Amino acid sequence: AAKNSGRNRYCYFTSSLQHTAVSRMRLSGDLRSALEKKQFVVYYQPIIELATGRMCKAEALIRWQHPVHGQIEPSEFIPMAEQAGLINAIGDWVFLQAAQQVKYWRQKIDPAFQISVNKSPAQFRADNDGGRNYWLGYLEELELPGDCITVEITEGLLLDTTERVKQVLQEFRGAGVQAALDDFGTGHSSLVYLKELEIDYLKIDCSFVNNLASRSSDRLLCEAIILMAHKLGLKVVAEGVETRAQRDILLEAGCDYAQGYYFSHPMPPALMELQPAASTRAQART
Ligand code: C2E
Ligand code: MG
Ligand code: MG
Ligand code: MG
Repeated sequence: AAKNSGRNRYCYFTSSLQHTAVSRMRLSGDLRSALEKKQFVVYYQPIIELATGRMCKAEALIRWQHPVHGQIEPSEFIPMAEQAGLINAIGDWVFLQAAQQVKYWRQKIDPAFQISVNKSPAQFRADNDGGRNYWLGYLEELELPGDCITVEITEGLLLDTTERVKQVLQEFRGAGVQAALDDFGTGHSSLVYLKELEIDYLKIDCSFVNNLASRSSDRLLCEAIILMAHKLGLKVVAEGVETRAQRDILLEAGCDYAQGYYFSHPMPPALMELQPAASTRAQART
């Protein structure tokens, strides 16, 4: 029945997914073959330098185009991939796409362009990758400098991986790859991560940005996070910026970069090249 379902059935199925273990198992089975069936695509969301309004970076965000259920959110299938032991295969694939893309955009749009790639704590587990840093290998193969890529780390429940994360980040740093602490402020040990890990960017979680213009406590928190980050020598990226008012407050607070629907939704790479920010920049140089 699900096979013949149209758009209307999609919502129904999504809500049942949250409730039945059987549907989850089925989807998790589909996930196993999704890579070879080429059902994943990578979207990119511009990251804007607030002081200049220029798009100087983008974040790679995976999408799963399921033949029956349509587009499935990463928040739904990334945890499944982690549980099924598929996260490294999928994450490595995303990295390879992003690396090829940044190579092309550096030639075509901006010689300093950077792409951020997410790496969940499960992807740092030594037993998952045999202790090898495949990502650095890909960069070498593509003859790309490390500063093309920023690795975004989310704080997970896998606190046992902290030592391993530290070690891998040092390898990355040695090759010029930068690191960002994602969803800052949402976990239980964000400050421990800040203390333990050598990172370059702090990404303020969208939950702090949502009510920036209406709640003075949220505004104060953002300002304090920005001050703290700058004192530690880090640059700040605000996530989930949806309004002009939020952008203005962040700019005034000295936030370095912003990302969100106000500037652009995540989109396929071909559309990124049509972004005004990209074309203005390309024109400005010629
Ligand atoms: P994230 O890394 O924090 O990515 C930002 C999320 O915020 C993205 O959700 C993006 O679409 C969404 N977003 C951007 N601007 C706005 C806005 O203005 N308002 C709101 N409400 N949301 C906005 P998305 O693409 O659904 O990804 C969700 C999460 O899935 C990501 O959160 C990341 O943790 C994970 N993820 C995505 N791609 C990958 C991947 O390739 N590997 C791994 N390990 N995780 C990934
Ligand atoms: Mg991220
Ligand atoms: Mg985030
Ligand atoms: Mg996240």
